[in-house]
Amino acid sequence: MLLDDRVALVTGASRGIGRAIAIALAREGARVAVNYLKEARAAEETVRLIEASGGTAVTLQGDVGHLEAAENMVQEVTRTFGRLDILVNNAGISKDNLLLRLSEEDLDLVLATNLKGAFNCSKAALRPMLKQRYGRIINVASVVGLVGNAGQTAYAASKAAIVGFTRSLAKEVASRGVLVNCIAPGYIVTDMTEALSEQQREEIGRRVPLGRPGQTEEVAQVVVFLASPGASYLTGQVIAVDGGMTA
Ligand code: NAP
Repeated sequence: MLLDDRVALVTGASRGIGRAIAIALAREGARVAVNYLKEARAAEETVRLIEASGGTAVTLQGDVGHLEAAENMVQEVTRTFGRLDILVNNAGISKDNLLLRLSEEDLDLVLATNLKGAFNCSKAALRPMLKQRYGRIINVASVVGLVGNAGQTAYAASKAAIVGFTRSLAKEVASRGVLVNCIAPGYIVTDMTEALSEQQREEIGRRVPLGRPGQTEEVAQVVVFLASPGASYLTGQVIAVDGGMTA
């Protein structure tokens, strides 16, 4: 299998895209730590699904927005599995509102989760990765971070920042065998997009050349590729997984 003997930490893997990524990495042989914030039962279900198909996984509670929590999580992963090879910074939230109505509290929460979360987990994960001179960090941004969207200034800014973070960190750690890339999903069916109104979903759907929303598994397959040996000459890149939306 592509990821035999590899260990992965996927943040926000209790649901949606993160769950699909955790399952897809495990299917390729990686042992997976399934991070979540509140939904313990959903995270346990991700682990159950992985184990049902013969994989190995554990749940890992922790708020990525806090550096100490991120450090504790990475310590727990290396204690449990002996190493950490793949970090997927997937945990994310949106608090959509027009800027004039956006509260400072919501702005802080979005930036803490989406942006600081990636900083914190990457910083913690780099310790074992640099020591073993091998690592893959895969950040989950969004097409909204590339093209913008009215009503999503906080979310879009956090995702655009992830792109700059990816490119800079890739340059920082390339010589030490750690590759850092980013995916920018478009409109994917998850709890996050189910929260949109019917009208918003129809409007987004019209902008997708493939004519349909994406499935979480279609995003997960791109992450598997970025984590696999086949992506060994790929770093600092952004791959839009968006059905052609940004083409
Ligand atoms: P989702 O279904 O709402 O799931 C969000 C996940 O993040 C959950 O597992 C949640 O844990 C976790 N989480 C939230 N805050 C956290 C924190 N502070 N610490 C740790 N975990 C936290 O979201 P999704 O649609 O799968 O999105 C996943 C990622 O893809 C996000 O970064 C999102 O911005 C990005 N994305 C999604 C789309 C889309 O169309 N869905 C498009 C572009 C980009 P709990 O279950 O415990 O709450």
